[in-house]
Amino acid sequence: MAQQANENWKLSIVSPVYNEADTLPQFVDEVTTMLDQIQPPGGAEIILVNDGSHDNSAAILDRLATEHPGRIKAVHLSRNFGMEPAIQAGLSISSGDAIIILDADLQDDPAAFTDFIKAWQDGNQVAYAVRSSREEGPLQRALFWTFYRLLSWIAHIDLPLDASNFALMDRRVVDTLLKMPESNRFLRGLRAWTGFKQIGIPVARRKREHGQTRLGLRGQWRLAMNAIFSFSYVPLFCFRLAGALSIVLCMLLIFWALYAKLITGIAVDSWASLFIVTTFFGGVNLLGIGIIGEYVARIHDDVKGRPNFIIDRVNGDYHE
Ligand code: UDP
Ligand code: MG
Repeated sequence: MAQQANENWKLSIVSPVYNEADTLPQFVDEVTTMLDQIQPPGGAEIILVNDGSHDNSAAILDRLATEHPGRIKAVHLSRNFGMEPAIQAGLSISSGDAIIILDADLQDDPAAFTDFIKAWQDGNQVAYAVRSSREEGPLQRALFWTFYRLLSWIAHIDLPLDASNFALMDRRVVDTLLKMPESNRFLRGLRAWTGFKQIGIPVARRKREHGQTRLGLRGQWRLAMNAIFSFSYVPLFCFRLAGALSIVLCMLLIFWALYAKLITGIAVDSWASLFIVTTFFGGVNLLGIGIIGEYVARIHDDVKGRPNFIIDRVNGDYHE
């Protein structure tokens, strides 16, 4: 039987919400139906984190929380902080022995809950969805495919391919994640970093029912940058390599110039070669500084020590 589940285990569901007014009622309906099937012995809570939505989500969340007292918690952040901080805020409020994170836009299928719970009861501390299919266009799919493979190749931890945020985590894993103060978080990486026993479960990703992706290209780009710069030093290595190769190239050019001048007596002329070499290495230098800057900016964020999110209120109550 359950390795980590005590007899009276409780389940928490955590979902970040940004302008999801159109999907929220159906989402809560689907999740509640699943929870009624599962019937966790210690009960279940659904934590919906309103990440500074500017549609009607806040009011809908408050209404849902009043309609399902004790089951739904509406957590309102003080502004839009982004998906990762919203998830972190939800985790910080959660009290379950097992915690499931899923998007509120119905792209993550609640039917997978039962597989997650079974994997957890079989002794896994993390059961994460592996996207068995995606609904995005071919270009986006190709980009995701390439990115995940590149990331798992350069990352200094074992990052599972195509793993999704949609996952069940044991309380101990969540507590470990909450103890990590770093900003610019990439949950899938941090989750893998914690270790423990993890298992990937294929889950088809559904189509977004309403509206466009809230994360957008910019959000995806930011996540990708966090993933690379928080879990890899390969970008720095590339610049050390480029530096070494430039020195070798420079030596060859010096020998060539000397040979031309001393042996053939005809000095290498043309300002074009000088111009090309200078601008090329100028560019390489700036790129290198930019790469270092990405790491430095992250250190700067961590040194400032600002909280990753601010909770304004939970249901109707102000949060200290
Ligand atoms: N989200 C959020 N804050 C944001 C952007 C998105 O809380 O600034 C939520 C959004 O409501 C959804 C989840 O994060 O529940 C995933 O967002 P989205 O569907 O846009 O991501 P995608 O599926 O396109 O990767
Ligand atoms: Mg989505």
